[in-house]
Amino acid sequence: MLVGRKVTVLGAGIAGLAVARALALRGAQVTVYEQADAIREVGAGLQISPNGVRVLSALGLADALADVAPRGEAVELIDGPSGDAVARMALARGEYRFVHRGALVALLAEGARAAGVQFRFLQQIDRVQLGAHPPRFITHQGAEVEAEILIGADGLHSKVREALNGPAMPFFTHQVAWRAVIAAEPDAAPVAQVFMGPGRHLVSYPLGGGLRNIVAVEERRRWVEESWTLQDDPEALRASFAGFCPQVRGWLDHVDAPMLWGLFRHPVAVRWQGYGAAIMGDAAHPTLPFLAQGAVMALEDAWVLAERLSCHETTAAAFASYKAMRAPRCTRIVEAANANARNYHLGGARRAVAHAGLRAISALSPNALLNRYAWVHGADVTEGAGG
Ligand SMILES: Cc1cc2nc3c(=O)[nH]c(=O)nc-3n(C[C@H](O)[C@H](O)[C@H](O)COP(=O)(O)OP(=O)(O)OC[C@H]3O[C@@H](n4cnc5c(N)ncnc54)[C@H](O)[C@@H]3O)c2cc1C
Repeated sequence: MLVGRKVTVLGAGIAGLAVARALALRGAQVTVYEQADAIREVGAGLQISPNGVRVLSALGLADALADVAPRGEAVELIDGPSGDAVARMALARGEYRFVHRGALVALLAEGARAAGVQFRFLQQIDRVQLGAHPPRFITHQGAEVEAEILIGADGLHSKVREALNGPAMPFFTHQVAWRAVIAAEPDAAPVAQVFMGPGRHLVSYPLGGGLRNIVAVEERRRWVEESWTLQDDPEALRASFAGFCPQVRGWLDHVDAPMLWGLFRHPVAVRWQGYGAAIMGDAAHPTLPFLAQGAVMALEDAWVLAERLSCHETTAAAFASYKAMRAPRCTRIVEAANANARNYHLGGARRAVAHAGLRAISALSPNALLNRYAWVHGADVTEGAGG
């Protein structure tokens, strides 16, 4: 159904690039509009769990991923102030990868180009018009473009989401995240470590290319802009984690220009599709990062959206089926990530009790903690779809 059809994708992030390749591999003529002047990504790491790796494999990108991303061996939960181990989860079931965002975006972009996708850079979409006419959008540069099929992969502040749903009302969670990349120790094991403390936690893991990713989350009253490109003073980050163990403080000594990001909760979009347009990735279901599934959900969306468009006769039926398949799962993941934020930040007696419980579960049944997320990581959206 897709051969020769023209699809316009807004946004060249993880969602847009993945869906562009998936559609082009099925014969569509795909053009991606992106506001930046080139494919570029802010430096930070991503954990890609097996459900995301399965999509990248189905898109023919497994080898390219393995070349740039170490395979994760375990997740360790650690008491931040003392540095004592709380629980260890071996990542034995399925393939987890730790990857630099820039490396993932580069391999997706290369994959899209190789499949024939065209790119239009420096095209900032100001407005999207949907109605009883083909989908249209107007760029800041003055172009008015009409699309046959329009896919909004334009992230948190999506114009396509706004056209379908009206303006969104996110609210500040009173949590901020610093993100930084430092040099990794030469012998760093491919393990994601979560250091938990009262009102704050820090996640770190080695990426490929001799780098280590750090995400540090702190609860605070003050509002912080929801932007991925706001820099902060490294002393503020060091001061926030001054009570943590020497391993954490040692890493933070090497941070010189951390990014600061206000964590907002956005409702999952009510309308995902209509009038020849659909949304995906953060445009449809932005999530807090506490389950490491934002990019992975975008990859799953990409596969399902392309597969639906290729097997339904009408775009409307394909989009409706895509939403029906994706919305319940994405909503459940977003809610599970919201719940995790609270679990990591306990203080006082509640922290002692919770950590003792986790230690006991970890000792008695090492797989039990990870099994709680089998429904997330064990899913295979490519199954039975020729992938
Ligand atoms: C600290 C942190 C840690 C994270 N950790 C993980 C993790 O471990 N695992 C994981 O799976 N996910 C993680 N995520 C989430 C993940 O990064 C996002 O969910 C994912 O990047 C969403 O991809 P996207 O393509 O939908 O949106 P984006 O990556 O935001 O891409 C949107 C694209 O659209 C373009 N665009 C936007 N507006 C316009 C416009 N008006 N006109 C033209 N172009 C436009 C943008 O320039 C951009 O290129 C993390 C996020 C953060 C911030």
